[in-house]
Amino acid sequence: MVFDYDLFVIGGGSGGVRAARVAASETGAKVGLAEQSRYGGTCVIRGCVPKKLMVFASEFSNLTEQAHAYGWSLQTGTFNWPEFQAKLNAELDRLEGVYRSLLAKAGVDTFDLAAKLLTPHEIELADGTRKSARHILLAVGGRPMRPDIPGAELAITSNEIFHLETLPRSMLIIGGGYIACEFASIMTGLGVATTQCYRGARVLRGFDVEARELVTAGMRARGVDLRLNTNVVALTAEGEHVRAAVTDGTNAVYEQVMFATGRQPNTGGLDLAAVDLPLGPQGEVVVDHYSQTGVPSLFAVGDVTDRVNLTPVAIHEGMAFVRTVFQGIPTKPDYELIPTAIFTQPEFGTIGLSEESAKALGPIKVYTAEFRGMREVFAGGTEKTLMKLITDANSDHVLGCHIVAPSAGEMIQLIGVAIKMGATKADFDRTMAVHPTLSEELVTLRAPTRMG
Ligand code: NDP
Repeated sequence: MVFDYDLFVIGGGSGGVRAARVAASETGAKVGLAEQSRYGGTCVIRGCVPKKLMVFASEFSNLTEQAHAYGWSLQTGTFNWPEFQAKLNAELDRLEGVYRSLLAKAGVDTFDLAAKLLTPHEIELADGTRKSARHILLAVGGRPMRPDIPGAELAITSNEIFHLETLPRSMLIIGGGYIACEFASIMTGLGVATTQCYRGARVLRGFDVEARELVTAGMRARGVDLRLNTNVVALTAEGEHVRAAVTDGTNAVYEQVMFATGRQPNTGGLDLAAVDLPLGPQGEVVVDHYSQTGVPSLFAVGDVTDRVNLTPVAIHEGMAFVRTVFQGIPTKPDYELIPTAIFTQPEFGTIGLSEESAKALGPIKVYTAEFRGMREVFAGGTEKTLMKLITDANSDHVLGCHIVAPSAGEMIQLIGVAIKMGATKADFDRTMAVHPTLSEELVTLRAPTRMG
């Protein structure tokens, strides 16, 4: 059978664009791609990129305070949201343009339309056009979820936060994951009186407990009103604002309320029933180790598969898919030891096992250094840094590293290489310290703080 395309990709986010581009430019495949919104997807348009720029913007308030301690006389001004937002939008436009031109240069045909499945080899675009393809890649990502409570529609999600016309004076953020904690820090840094309600006892479930506690303490010290073991039960409109009834008995009014209560796979418009593809328990497209679904011509990568929902992982899955299907080299994505950063203030970088999960697997040694960095001490600040290594007590291999510090994301990227290579504690010990830095503590950890 002759197909219009060797590959048709639905979704122009990180995973879909990478797979389309590499399949077209490196294997000569004829590739089409449909995107119903903006190229770049969640990461570029309504996630990592605008979030990180807001992190940068929000850090200046604390830096200005520190500057006083270093002898500067600076006026702490107010944040000009419309000015920042206009620049942010221009930057996102530029980046979207880069994505479009990368696809064009690779020879990918793009369609700025939604697409749905008709058969295992055929899709229909929103204008009724049909295209056939030998392989179809689903890369439609995810979208924020709202809990089912009265008035939920009055709250925004991370999709809307970048488009607010005015910066609220007060805000309630619900959730304790990456997005809730990052935005609680950002909004506080921008001067918004921010309350965060999390239903559990500790935010950032699943990560190392000691690191989570330090992040919590740091966020609170910087001004986040973080309320644990609380949840919102109902929202009601109060003029332009929102009243939130919370399980701790409070019933306050906020200028904005945001849910950061998780994301779900974005399969709604695909018509997977047409190809008889059932979804998994989280509404995800179920795939095997090679990102292939139960329908042999259909593959899926990225958040729609709900494996590890991170941009670099979606890109990696897209590349593995191309190697497997178009280069004849069966390649499973590698999920071992993924370094990641949570851009809270203080920042948290992490790789490998938490102390709690490592301990459950066998004997471990835990090395920690918790201290106030030189810069913080001089400024009279109280914020603490954590450098933590967890090693296998028998083999000496480093099983996990957790850093709470300024630029922890940058540090964990680099330490991630050594840990991925199988570094032992002895390898860390024989590495010369870079002095004076925060990260030198990682190579000067002598005796274990505790054994587990
Ligand atoms: P997460 O799954 O990380 O967190 C969701 C949070 O919402 C959890 O604290 C959860 O509580 C809570 N929650 C869920 N349902 C409810 C409910 N009904 N009522 C109250 N609270 C609820 O999702 P996020 O939205 O924060 O982030 C989504 C994904 O995006 C992340 O998993 C991550 O992979 C990715 N991401 C990565 C970033 C990075 O790399 N820096 C930044 C932002 C996002 P509980 O813990 O009790 O389940």
